[in-house]
Amino acid sequence: MASLPDDPIDALLTAHGLRRTQAARLVLGWMLAHADTSFTHAQLQLALHDETAQGLDRVTLYRLVDRLTQVGLLLCRVDVHRVRRYQAMPASVQAAPHFECQNCHRDSPLAGALKKNSRDLEKAAQTAIEALKALGYTDLRMDVAVRGICLDCAADEASRAD
Ligand SMILES: [Zn+2]
Repeated sequence: MASLPDDPIDALLTAHGLRRTQAARLVLGWMLAHADTSFTHAQLQLALHDETAQGLDRVTLYRLVDRLTQVGLLLCRVDVHRVRRYQAMPASVQAAPHFECQNCHRDSPLAGALKKNSRDLEKAAQTAIEALKALGYTDLRMDVAVRGICLDCAADEASRAD
């Protein structure tokens, strides 16, 4: 029987069905070490280059980031400039209610718009996750997203209709 990897990064990669390549370790390790920051592909490439003095080529990095996002280790959000930003998936973000505009694809937290109601939503999601965890479910993720048309896009549409 194969022994379990003791390195937490390796363990995460294995648990998500990813190969434990040097590149995968590098990217996931960096993202987890900077879990409160989101990076664009370009920023990540630059940071890794500074970190390792070699970095990764663009294609490898893009592919890896896509893969890490697909398995839920990274969170992908589109910023106001419609640029994809990636961040390690922290527990607190998993259940953070957010709004996805179906027109401009901007993704924004609902905390500002909903105020206290947003905290209720978040708490409800967290409670559900804790309950499932207690039952033995693992790798839990919950995405609380409200989808629709944002204020900016709605205003655009209204002005075009005039
Ligand atoms: Zn919009």
